[in-house]
Amino acid sequence: MISTSVADEFRSIVGDAWFLDTPEDLATYSYDGFLPEFMPDAIIVPGSRDEISSILRVANREKINIIPRGAGTNICGSSVARKGGIIIAFHRLNKILEIEPENMCTVVQPGVVNADLQKEVAQYSLMYPPDPASLFVSTIGGNVALNAGGPRGVKYGVTRDYLLGLEVVLPSGEVIKTGGKVLKSVSGYDLTRLMCGSEGTLGIMTEITVRLVPLPPAKATLQAMFSDLDDAAKTVSAIIGSGIVPTTLELIDRVVLDVIANFGGAKFSKEAEALLLIEVDGEASSVEGQGEKIERFCKERGAIEVERASTPEEADSLWQARRTAFGAVASVRPNCIVEDATVPVKRLSEIIRKIVELADKYHLRIGVLAHAGDGNLHPLIMTDLKDKEEMARIDKALDELYEVTIAMGGTLSGEHGIGIAKDRFMSLEFSESAIDIMRGIKKVFDPNNILNPGSFL
Ligand SMILES: Cc1cc2nc3c(=O)[nH]c(=O)nc-3n(C[C@H](O)[C@H](O)[C@H](O)COP(=O)(O)OP(=O)(O)OC[C@H]3O[C@@H](n4cnc5c(N)ncnc54)[C@H](O)[C@@H]3O)c2cc1C
Repeated sequence: MISTSVADEFRSIVGDAWFLDTPEDLATYSYDGFLPEFMPDAIIVPGSRDEISSILRVANREKINIIPRGAGTNICGSSVARKGGIIIAFHRLNKILEIEPENMCTVVQPGVVNADLQKEVAQYSLMYPPDPASLFVSTIGGNVALNAGGPRGVKYGVTRDYLLGLEVVLPSGEVIKTGGKVLKSVSGYDLTRLMCGSEGTLGIMTEITVRLVPLPPAKATLQAMFSDLDDAAKTVSAIIGSGIVPTTLELIDRVVLDVIANFGGAKFSKEAEALLLIEVDGEASSVEGQGEKIERFCKERGAIEVERASTPEEADSLWQARRTAFGAVASVRPNCIVEDATVPVKRLSEIIRKIVELADKYHLRIGVLAHAGDGNLHPLIMTDLKDKEEMARIDKALDELYEVTIAMGGTLSGEHGIGIAKDRFMSLEFSESAIDIMRGIKKVFDPNNILNPGSFL
């Protein structure tokens, strides 16, 4: 609970209109893309870095928890007030401050929506590569704090690979700058990268500088259907191993294809057990050759059908199944748990087999959607949170899934983060000493543990 006098102090910083505490406001910010709900004490919507700094000074003095929040689309529960406190939302800080084609970079406020940035920089024939499937709503601040990836990650990497510099307000209210517009800098510890993926636990980012790349002039989009899931998974590893670097290499299994078809998304051959969506980009001449090579490759490895788009409209329609997938799966049962197990690409077919085995063993409906080209799987568990017995079976299946993932040299999260969804698995991936180092880092930044204290540490 926040005392009336402290609430008044916050109101005087941001103005009455931007301190929200009606029951409707609290309920609206009580959940994110993950499942559990926690009621915050208030929501503050600051309009400047200086306001954020003043808010944090008061919160630090009063030891009030602060939870930064972009669009709330994270699927790991890292923007909810698990231990109570105030949510700070960034939708007023949504300006693209600079686009510098000469430096191939842009400076933005944290509340800029990813797709808005993509659209803006495209006018300069530039591209910001990280493209989470949530790009039409998720913010650059949220993307950086979770080190978001996306379908283009196979070729272009993740948010971290484009992050150049930050302005950060520390829990004490002090402001620090890290990095800048230079492409190379080896000065001191890399605080910019430390902030990336820190899930709102170390500081609040108020300005973000990211690198841009030239917008590729051409692309080829292909869809290949396989009657054997294993053949599809092995084709992924084979394409990656052949030296072709696709922009996108997505896999959808039969369970998800059925759901998409029932949702009215598209029709697929009855024999199809898996779909691969593959895209390459670059100069028109090289893209054409790579497209042909991939088509041949898929056919040689058992594809029963390969379609290559010859117009942008055809490419768009090949993307339709992938775009519909999340919405379609979410419509099947009251809830859908989206997992994020990630393994070395070579182990892809093994981990997919394991997921099929777990679905069978624990009588669960699990579909597989994967950014397969970088080994990042999203097992989609269709469920009902109210069914306690089923939830217990899901817990057991997840215990097994993450034990196997780590044993294969994989990681708990390829892009969605740990949050409250996976904190219980941290000791599978990290030794106690490694976790202690993380706790120590947190303490240096945030000695009073006010920033997102319920999250992964
Ligand atoms: C349909 C769907 C598809 C998705 N697809 C992808 C995908 O392809 N790839 C992917 O990586 N993720 C994906 N996600 C997950 C999610 O969209 C991303 O993690 C995204 O980066 C979250 O951005 P957000 O603005 O919603 O941030 P939020 O969910 O609001 O917050 C995320 C984290 O960032 C912190 N944070 C936010 N702003 C700041 C700030 N200014 N300073 C400090 N910390 C801050 C929060 O405290 C929290 O820990 C998907 C989610 C959905 C619902």
